[in-house]
Amino acid sequence: MRATVMYGAGDVRVEEVPDPVIEEPTDAVVRVVRTCVCGSDLHPYHTMPASGQGTPMGHEFLGVVEELGSGAAGLKRGDLVVASFAFQDNTCDFCREGVQTSCRHGGFFNTAQAEFVRVPQAAGTLVTLPVEEDSPLLPSLLTLADVYGTGYHAARRATVNPRTTVTVIGDGAVGLLAVLSARQLGAERIILMGRHKARTDLGIEFGATDVVAERGEEGIARVRELTGGDGTHAVLEAVGYREAYEQALGVVRPGGVISRVGVPQYDEAPIGWGLFGGNLTLTGGPAPVRAYIDELLPGVLDGTVEPGKVFDRTVGLDEVPDGYRAMDRREALKVLVQP
Ligand SMILES: [Zn+2]
Repeated sequence: MRATVMYGAGDVRVEEVPDPVIEEPTDAVVRVVRTCVCGSDLHPYHTMPASGQGTPMGHEFLGVVEELGSGAAGLKRGDLVVASFAFQDNTCDFCREGVQTSCRHGGFFNTAQAEFVRVPQAAGTLVTLPVEEDSPLLPSLLTLADVYGTGYHAARRATVNPRTTVTVIGDGAVGLLAVLSARQLGAERIILMGRHKARTDLGIEFGATDVVAERGEEGIARVRELTGGDGTHAVLEAVGYREAYEQALGVVRPGGVISRVGVPQYDEAPIGWGLFGGNLTLTGGPAPVRAYIDELLPGVLDGTVEPGKVFDRTVGLDEVPDGYRAMDRREALKVLVQP
């Protein structure tokens, strides 16, 4: 089959690799119908040391079950399914406690930008979708694999509700879907920090009430000005750079919550008086999106929300390297791939 392999920063290729096969009874093999490029794929795209070996790429996909191991209960060949970006049994103690990304039998996908994917723990990972393979809902359904669930996780971890004011830092797909999620959870005041107008316009469509294009101290001052000097109860950080964390500290209201879902590209950041003094909570992490799929699916199916609007370009598998380039240059917000 054809699959995406990264050989170093800026070097993405699509090449022939062996077809995946069932290795464990709990496995399935899925034919990929839609996959996509993630903002987090851009981190290795910037920093990966060149290697002759290459690393397969991709963790978001939906597709059709082609083969099933004897222990993959509840699924059948031909099912159209979406997978969470982490696989899990969805039965162990961590899974039952809602941290499926720490599953005792779990792990993360990294081979989804391909024609087929081997799915470990298929019964706990794949969710059957009640639509056809040509449904116009596929882009929105694909966001359940990661970006929608991740934005939702940021909002849930921050206990967003109708009484909370919210700042979202970042106008990538996750930030925009954090806006959508905060709105779904009832927040009425949502300040979106981002400076790409096409993206912040979509943020407004998703429910943002204010847009702050300034960054750093200027951005902090602007959010404070909009909130009577106090900042917001919840800050959803969907970037991952230390500057974004510092911005979060600057705009959170005393007693508030900073919820991070941008993969941190730093190990050190201030946690002294700035965090302690305001009785702030710092939370967030890799989103256990499997925990949210059942909850978010109905709104996608009935059209209440259209998270698939974050996709603004579609390519075939052979054009995936162009997709990375377009996202890296900010020419595309999120690239959908139709193998
Ligand atoms: Zn588990």
